[in-house]
Amino acid sequence: MPIATVNPATGETLRTYDALDAGEIERRLARARAAFDAHRTTSFAERARLLHRAADLLDEGLRDIAEVMTTEMGKPVTQARAEAAKCVKAMRWYADHAEELLADEESSGEAAKDSGASRVLVRYRPLGPVLAVMPWNFPLWQVIRFAAPALMAGNVGLLKHASNVPRTALFLEELFRGAGYPEGCFQTLLIGSGAVEDVLRDPRVAAATLTGSEPAGRSVASVAGDEIKKTVLELGGSDPFVVMPSADIDRAAATAVTARVQNNGQSCIAAKRFIVHTDVFDAFTERFTAGMRALKVGDPMDEETEVGPLASEQGRRDLEELVDDAVENGATVLCGGERPDGPGWYYPPTVLADVTPGMRIHHEEAFGPVATLYRAAGLDEAVAIANDSPFGLSSNVWTREEADVDRFVRDLEAGGVYVNGMTASHPAFPFGGVKRSGYGRELSGHGIREFCNITTVWHGA
Ligand code: NAP
Repeated sequence: MPIATVNPATGETLRTYDALDAGEIERRLARARAAFDAHRTTSFAERARLLHRAADLLDEGLRDIAEVMTTEMGKPVTQARAEAAKCVKAMRWYADHAEELLADEESSGEAAKDSGASRVLVRYRPLGPVLAVMPWNFPLWQVIRFAAPALMAGNVGLLKHASNVPRTALFLEELFRGAGYPEGCFQTLLIGSGAVEDVLRDPRVAAATLTGSEPAGRSVASVAGDEIKKTVLELGGSDPFVVMPSADIDRAAATAVTARVQNNGQSCIAAKRFIVHTDVFDAFTERFTAGMRALKVGDPMDEETEVGPLASEQGRRDLEELVDDAVENGATVLCGGERPDGPGWYYPPTVLADVTPGMRIHHEEAFGPVATLYRAAGLDEAVAIANDSPFGLSSNVWTREEADVDRFVRDLEAGGVYVNGMTASHPAFPFGGVKRSGYGRELSGHGIREFCNITTVWHGA
């Protein structure tokens, strides 16, 4: 894929970029290693000062970078601003909390004595330069949620961003440099995916994090496995949204619409499969379908737009194929389902009912504003449908019954259970999945420690 900014609302190529050559990649890897040797010894106070400065700069330039994101990948500009604001908040949060999250863990009690020590402590030391392979869908947030904790832990970052968001990728490097981070602490590598393997195998790169599709995750994880390097993988999702009879149906249906179409439907944690108890199926379906139909689709730069174009022509083709396959195999289209004429990679909000396991969409991720509806006779069946997916990122459940909640929390195969709400990430809480959605966690104490050398320091008696 060429490294280029192509406006999804028009299909126009605005700018192409040359990939870095081998010499420039080498210089950047050397810089990263040198920067790590200095950055790892800095105090939390110094790291926090730099990250606060970067957050302030992002805050000041928020409207401009939001327009860049919208131009590169088509999300409504209002949502792009919200994404940038969320990044500012997360940067400040890590600047203020990293020291506490990474504080030494002292042990002088029974276990220490039992090991023959007077004192044992666990210290979280940084690992080194971390390669971050990132997707285009939240082009700022995905990077910041890696970079803010990593830099606070004393690591340095090498960003290989998706090839369709080069301006956002370059902006990020400039942001950290502009905030005063020493050269090499955070660098963008404009490279294609074919160049990732050599970078990852380089001995100066300590670990890798990848957010993206399953094939990309498999490829990076196998190379890292071969090199015995730590990885965190945040991959695809097809999150269930379960509605039980005791739920507030109006709120559930309104939230379901947002949960499905946020970011033009291209979110890993979007609710994608709507599993509704038969007692409330008709009431929910009517409200949900009406809400999907009423969405304002159009130019993502327009302040009123709720759903913009998909990010790429290929992305729209993939989505259409999933819908066509479902319809050919008996699914009922309740709304949408036909691409509009005209420029740009638009696809309408779509609801499919009568979905069965024989359809591709039952097992694959629909990366666009397409919802599938399932009817469940009771809680057992709802759980069974929810778990009948290769993915296990997050889940949403709507009920007022404590017993239902207990069952969902016990039985749903997912990295999150959001009760009477929609999945959203927050700097203080862990984020990640199970099954084909990946492994490891981002955010919170769990996330920041993923790229730490957890060091046992033992003192003899
Ligand atoms: P993608 O095609 O996998 O690309 C993601 C990144 O991986 C890009 O930088 C891409 O570079 C790179 N890449 C692709 N193939 C690679 C390979 N074989 N070796 C090394 N790097 C490779 O995914 P996408 O289309 O950008 O993003 C959509 C996917 O990301 C969806 O499945 C979505 O669910 C998932 N996602 C997951 C999360 C999460 O937190 N779990 C969050 C957001 C998105 P190029 O652009 O140069 O190909």
